[in-house]
Amino acid sequence: MSEAPQPGNPKATAAPAAPNEAKPPVSARVASSLPELVRFEKVTKSFGEGPEARVAIQDVSFIIEDLPNVGELIAIVGPSGCGKSTVLRMLAGLRPHFPPTSGEVKVFGKPITHPGADRGMVDQKYSLMPHLTVRDNIAFGLMLRGIPLKERCGRAAEWAKKVGLEGCEDKYPSELSGGMQQRVSIAATLILEPKILLMDEPFGALDPKIRMQMQELLVQLWKEQQSTVFIVTHSVEEAIYLGDRVLRMGAKPGRLVEILQLPRPDMSPEMMRKKPWFNELSQELLRRLETDAPALGELSGIDRWR
Ligand code: ADP
Ligand code: MG
Repeated sequence: MSEAPQPGNPKATAAPAAPNEAKPPVSARVASSLPELVRFEKVTKSFGEGPEARVAIQDVSFIIEDLPNVGELIAIVGPSGCGKSTVLRMLAGLRPHFPPTSGEVKVFGKPITHPGADRGMVDQKYSLMPHLTVRDNIAFGLMLRGIPLKERCGRAAEWAKKVGLEGCEDKYPSELSGGMQQRVSIAATLILEPKILLMDEPFGALDPKIRMQMQELLVQLWKEQQSTVFIVTHSVEEAIYLGDRVLRMGAKPGRLVEILQLPRPDMSPEMMRKKPWFNELSQELLRRLETDAPALGELSGIDRWR
């Protein structure tokens, strides 16, 4: 992690229109010839019918391009109930959030119809199977794909090592700490090499020290894997540390307010937290979130990071 921080590719920015403003079509707002990885176009989701209907997200539009050989990390922040999980689960093709009530969600240029191997999901509950060992939990998806026992055990051992669980392969989830369980869950998802990794508050249940270690591990794995990661987080520090872009959402109705472009982390989260400009950026993002401010563009203090 010695490279100088780079500002993100400006071509990759799809700025959302300010709320209540006439919105041009998504295609008119993006000057990029890169292939699209994900496109949300005027996506609205309501739960329930008639007077009981509740709008979870309204008119959400954005595009994430497939940058050649560079996975991006997209952090999604916003108040509770603004539709962060709805956006993620919609991308995963998971019901009842999928399909949208109106609008369209596309992955690799094609409308999503169901969950697919190109998208892997990690959430706060870890979703491990208690009766299976670490090795078998990590290798479970490979077994479903019909990979022979010897090969899947070898690959599970490699992944256990990558996430720092070497020597724990024969343990059961109940014998592991929360941080270790989350590592198993991440390994079990990444071993399937999804092009898009979806993480819904993956570190929410971890204590701050383990959480920072997991953030660093995620950055390292994500650089190796070059997948595009969407991560929902309550922590502005986590969003700023991890995100190449931050999607800031607002509530009532759930909507996308702005997309912020950030440099890549070039130091550990612990080091970065000690920098005054990092705290300035975090405080400004927090202020925007708490006041549900309209789109304000670049965070002040960011120039000192570049
Ligand atoms: P967030 O993840 O930002 O906290 P969610 O995406 O979970 O928000 O929820 C957005 C809104 O949609 C909330 O008002 C929530 O109550 C509603 N909602 C989410 N899932 C369901 C569901 N399965 N059935 C009914 N309403 C739901
Ligand atoms: Mg949620």
